[in-house]
Amino acid sequence: MGKLIVQKYGGTSVKSPERIKAVAERIKSYRDRGYDLVVVVSAMGKTTDELIDLAKQISSNPSKREMDMLLSTGEQVSCALLAMALHEIGIDAVSYTGSQIKMRTDGNFSNAKISEISTERIFKSINEGKVVIVAGFQGIDDDENIVTLGRGGSDTTAVALAAVLKTRDCEIYTDVDGVYTADPRVVRSTKKLKEISYDEMLELARLGAGVLHSRSVEFAKKYNIRLHVRSSFSYDEGTIVMPMEEMMEKFVVSGITSKEDEAKVTIREIPDRPGISARLFNELGKHKIYVNMIVQSTGHDNRASISFTVKKEDLKETVRICNELNKEFGGSAVDYKENIAIVSAVGVGMLSSYGVAGKMFQVFSEQNINIEMISTSEIGISCVIDSMYSELAVKVLHKTFIESE
Ligand code: ASP
Ligand code: MG
Repeated sequence: MGKLIVQKYGGTSVKSPERIKAVAERIKSYRDRGYDLVVVVSAMGKTTDELIDLAKQISSNPSKREMDMLLSTGEQVSCALLAMALHEIGIDAVSYTGSQIKMRTDGNFSNAKISEISTERIFKSINEGKVVIVAGFQGIDDDENIVTLGRGGSDTTAVALAAVLKTRDCEIYTDVDGVYTADPRVVRSTKKLKEISYDEMLELARLGAGVLHSRSVEFAKKYNIRLHVRSSFSYDEGTIVMPMEEMMEKFVVSGITSKEDEAKVTIREIPDRPGISARLFNELGKHKIYVNMIVQSTGHDNRASISFTVKKEDLKETVRICNELNKEFGGSAVDYKENIAIVSAVGVGMLSSYGVAGKMFQVFSEQNINIEMISTSEIGISCVIDSMYSELAVKVLHKTFIESE
């Protein structure tokens, strides 16, 4: 057996027959260098979106089981076509659906978690000299229903396969050629990172710069897999997501992000006593409202105010719940703001540096940008500001922390 590598090709990499043929050529180049390959594919181009659209034309509330049954077909098409493309250029290959390799998951339709994968059939095919192609994003539950892993889930299929097949090398071919220090559409001088740690990658995803399915990064971290994020349109190196300890360079700030999909809600002058926050956030939780940043002011006169952010689509519901609770608590008012941006700086180097927060706030103050909320994690600092200033904030932070370092 040669050295085993797992590769994943995303929708753009297999969006047309020409692209599928190009992917086959790339696979051949690895084969020529003696590699054994397990290749995971996503559905071609926008297929998944089109299938969702199709379902909507039939039903406004399709059954979740049937939805997964439908969406899993996209990947089945691309994996069969890729196998054919390989045959055309003389490479032996076989394609498998999730159920054929017994990719076991829980029964949570549209967002299932992988529990077990059988490696028997895969190794048998590899030993027969075949390239193994696996349909991404899908598995089967205990009752043999087809389930999907959530949008973008093929990344997770690939990493899970790397883990069970015990290889550290996993290449993810996606529509960007690596992880950048900021969104290239906002910052012209953005740089491609050679390496990034799992934690930074997860933090970037949480803060609005998602390149990979988050669960795939969690898996990679758990099983110590090196994820090479790169493009199938070139042979350039991309970015390697790896354990922090193995990184050559640790930047204080490796990425600047901005997200504008949340809104801020404030509930003012409610009683400053045990149980109030519990009541408020339990109630939001009951309604499945995802809360991100939370800030409480120091109380005085036995009153305190709490601000937090929620997804914009949950804003109406949140305000309704808060108004009810505000009456119950005898608070003064509930207000909200929709045009906010959460601008963040992320970097593992923050673990061992000081003054980062001060420098960040200084940058905002020089631009006369008011900070409405602040929150920190071990490797990130986030500020809520008016969305009007979001691009400006990203640019100046990038200049300060990345270009001038
Ligand atoms: N085809 C699925 C999607 O578009 C899964 C994936 O691409 O990873 O979400
Ligand atoms: Mg995709």
